[in-house]
Amino acid sequence: MSRPILASLDLQALGNNLQVVRRAAPTAKVWSVVKANAYGHGIDRVWRSLASTDGFAMLNLEEAILLRERGWKGPILMLEGFFHADELPLFDKYRLTTSLHSNWQIKALQNAQLQAPLDIYLKINSGMNRLGFMPDRVHTVWQQLRAINNVSSITLMSHFAEAERPDGIAGPMARITQAAEGLDAPRSLSNSAATLWHPEAHFDWVRPGIVLYGASPSGQWQDVANSGIRPVMTLSSEIIAVQTLKAGETVGYGCRYRASEEQRIGVVACGYADGYPRIAPSGTPVLVDGIRTATVGAISMDMLTVDLTPCPQAGIGTPVELWGKEIKIDEVAAAAGTVGYELMCALAPRVPVVTV
Ligand SMILES: *Cc1c(COP(=O)(O)O)cnc(C)c1O
Repeated sequence: MSRPILASLDLQALGNNLQVVRRAAPTAKVWSVVKANAYGHGIDRVWRSLASTDGFAMLNLEEAILLRERGWKGPILMLEGFFHADELPLFDKYRLTTSLHSNWQIKALQNAQLQAPLDIYLKINSGMNRLGFMPDRVHTVWQQLRAINNVSSITLMSHFAEAERPDGIAGPMARITQAAEGLDAPRSLSNSAATLWHPEAHFDWVRPGIVLYGASPSGQWQDVANSGIRPVMTLSSEIIAVQTLKAGETVGYGCRYRASEEQRIGVVACGYADGYPRIAPSGTPVLVDGIRTATVGAISMDMLTVDLTPCPQAGIGTPVELWGKEIKIDEVAAAAGTVGYELMCALAPRVPVVTV
């Protein structure tokens, strides 16, 4: 047997989470967001479990082409559109719906030689100030697009900066309403947080990402604990060595943890080169032999160390869950000062992945 670390993906959980989204937004169609290689899960591994979706959204042309080559015939939305005009022939060939957020893209679309017109998602900047046209420009852009032969349908799109807050979308919604006034257009506004918590923003198409993978858009698992979503990824490993520290002894780089009394420590085959956050402090939750305990000391490149006090029966070969069904990825992320999104996207290529 090789190194015991493993990421296993629960494909049923993925399908379940899509159903949770359907129940939360029963009147909207669903773009399942599979950007960043399906949030680190591997687009090729997971897309079939989401194939009852209405469309897939992403931003990498290679990933879109992969989906087409695997046989996906439904809509594909490119969330950031084309990055250069010379990609338009591929958007045409693979029938990709494109977000459109900048003036140069309008000109590029006008000048392109396409076999058939493209569906457009006109991006409104509703306050996040990353991509999109200011609300008062939207009418003009709409008219410009309507006059271009290469344009088929136009949907209004925007993205929320803090939809996880109860009052987080009121301002943006007002700007979107202003921008959309008098335009007879479908709308797509909602990320996971708005899909779960702001039905008034559902409209025609929702765009959930993180909830499909079974983590919380707020970074706090308790916010989704009763939603019915289930974690998809479990990162597990085993104890490969045991140490007994005497009072006053330390463990790991920087001697960052010192035992106050005699203490059994388990060494786990998982480190930051596997995607476990190096910044996670002593006390980050971890499951050993089904029992909750905590990390002690620094996370190394290939190993981390855990307190075996609550599980005296544990020894070499004992299974460890770093995150998954029991230890939510949101808990580990919160301890490390980040969000589940970052940890799942950062799963290292060296970690073997299986689907169950
Ligand atoms: C990533 C992304 C989403 C999905 O966001 P989640 O918070 O993961 O649900 C939706 N829309 C756009 C434009 C995105 O970039």
